[in-house]
Amino acid sequence: MTRRTAAGRIRSMSRTPRRVSPGAPWPVQMRARLRTPEELARWLGKAGPVPWAADPESSGWPMAVTPYYASLIREWSPRDPIVRMCVPLREELRHRGLPPDPFDEEGHTVVPGVIRRYADRVALCATRECAVRCRHCTRRNELVTNANGATLAAADAARAAEWLRRHPEVREALVTGGDPLCLSDRRLDELLGALRAVPTVRVIRIGTRMPVLLPARITRSVCRVLRRHHPVWLNTHFNHPAEITPASAEACRRLVDAGVPVGNQTVLLRGVNDDARTLEDLFRGLVEIRVRPYYLLHCDPVRGAGHFRVPLRRALRLVAMMRRRLTGLAIPQFVIDVPGGESKVPLAPGAVVRWTRDGAVIRGPDGRHWTVRDP
Ligand SMILES: *Cc1c(COP(=O)(O)O)cnc(C)c1O
Repeated sequence: MTRRTAAGRIRSMSRTPRRVSPGAPWPVQMRARLRTPEELARWLGKAGPVPWAADPESSGWPMAVTPYYASLIREWSPRDPIVRMCVPLREELRHRGLPPDPFDEEGHTVVPGVIRRYADRVALCATRECAVRCRHCTRRNELVTNANGATLAAADAARAAEWLRRHPEVREALVTGGDPLCLSDRRLDELLGALRAVPTVRVIRIGTRMPVLLPARITRSVCRVLRRHHPVWLNTHFNHPAEITPASAEACRRLVDAGVPVGNQTVLLRGVNDDARTLEDLFRGLVEIRVRPYYLLHCDPVRGAGHFRVPLRRALRLVAMMRRRLTGLAIPQFVIDVPGGESKVPLAPGAVVRWTRDGAVIRGPDGRHWTVRDP
């Protein structure tokens, strides 16, 4: 029974976060995000402390979980794939020796928020905000504070456009972040308009996890914004078949129906999707919702995400298994990022030149050999 007194309401509010429905409009869910493991536990109706979780403060990467994403949790334990991806675990505090910015994105920042590592494309960080703070995020240190104490800035659209005008060899702007769909429709429209005003920017690619973390963000109105700036491609980030739900499928359907080709980048994560059956269900499920598996990324060696790394040898065995079982349409390219590379390096079984004591020597598309460290 609800107490109608003001005092009663205040007392109950301080104990449990406001109950916001997993289907609530996106701004409501953004405001109602769960910020600590204990808050999430109460939201799920689980009482008591959470001994396997780390304090978000000490992990160095804030916690944020939308009510929608919280509703995908099946088992309140560090074995649950959704829990592993959104709750700071004690394991995060291990592997402190890994670098905060392994690919020196700060060093490749050409104007605030614009990272150029490859010849024909740049990554433009539109915002530092995200719907859910993924524990395996490759920018988890940069978006807070990097090694030199500077923060990866959100791009200023006018400065980014001016830089692009002076660099006509850059044909593609990858709008990422953070998550660019955290911007309002109006601000997103302005940003895409500024990029479209540069004639040499032929293709815009959006990198967003919103279809997975907060599908209510994919409104008809944001689809209208995207289609105004075609050709717009979009890559999202499903990691587990449990993330393919009626809501996320509907979000992808709206995008595809707006003429936006949707691709998917999966990160290979220990304890989440590092078995053949899970990957098979994931990639088959994506094709069924018209999402093309684009990359399977080897998890970057980034501080705070070391416990997610799968040994390369095992990763290649999984890739070989996928090849034998799946239609080509459902098979993403398995890639690994290398500092100083001209692109990400595709790895097929057999691409390893030689195994070393603590890693492997791999061959890049240009024939160069790269030594990669392996857990
Ligand atoms: C991965 C990445 C890209 C895009 O690379 P593709 O191989 O074209 O998907 C662009 N810029 C940066 C900085 C990246 O890390």
